[in-house]
Amino acid sequence: MSELSGLSALVTGGTSGIGRATALTLARRGARVALSGRDEQRGEQVVAEIEAFGGTAVFIPADLRGEASARALARDTVARFGQVDVLVNNAGIYPSGPTEQMTEADFDAVYAINVKAPFFLVAELAPQMAARGHGAIVNVTTMAAEFGVAGTSLYGSSKAAVVLLTKAWTAEYGSRGVRVNAVSPGPTRTEGTAAYNGLDELAASTPAGRPGTPEEIAEAIAFLAEGRADFVYGAILPVDGGRTAV
Ligand code: NAP
Repeated sequence: MSELSGLSALVTGGTSGIGRATALTLARRGARVALSGRDEQRGEQVVAEIEAFGGTAVFIPADLRGEASARALARDTVARFGQVDVLVNNAGIYPSGPTEQMTEADFDAVYAINVKAPFFLVAELAPQMAARGHGAIVNVTTMAAEFGVAGTSLYGSSKAAVVLLTKAWTAEYGSRGVRVNAVSPGPTRTEGTAAYNGLDELAASTPAGRPGTPEEIAEAIAFLAEGRADFVYGAILPVDGGRTAV
């Protein structure tokens, strides 16, 4: 019997990079996986990959912009699977640049997807998990939420909010059986970072000396979602090649 057999998972941003690898990993461990994103073609491709090894998955299109879109996605997933046992808040955007060049539209877009969407997905799903007495939520933050780097004020601050939310939700739902944790990736080679030339240079400064793979991040996310991590509450797990340790 696989670790996640019989459980249902929702992975936001499952059409690409870390989210795609997470959807595949959770499905291999036996979960029924709903993956969301805006790109239907890439979403259906991930579903086909999961079905090819005998897993169960569905793509649910969602442009995550705030409360209404987040609650609708949560409700759609519950309608398909009956319940959500594992929520992975992965979808995110990470524009960088000097603070003075950021517009209000940039600010609103980053906070809408990186903070508001996870907030209202949890608002919709955590009470249902708490009522059943079990559930796992894994947020995806970033090492850039842990220290100051010029050019990451907007992105880093949005993920720092997610770090605190991970702890606040642990205080709020932990005693009712809902474990909320976060994975904090370092530089990782994905579709989203493919065009970023500085990634290798950034990764070279870590003890690991290389970028991570989406599969390595997904492995940590899956661990936190599983029963093996049953005593892990409110943790922010760095998966960053050692960057924040040194
Ligand atoms: P990616 O390859 O760019 O994929 C981003 C995912 O988010 C896609 O599935 C995309 O789906 C979805 N998404 C973006 N905007 C959306 C919106 N408005 N509504 C719904 N879905 C949306 O990103 P990644 O590199 O895998 O990163 C995934 C997460 O890890 C992010 O939260 C990121 O901040 C974090 N992270 C990444 C790194 C890294 O080096 N890669 C490091 C630290 C943290 P569609 O395109 O289908 O909409």
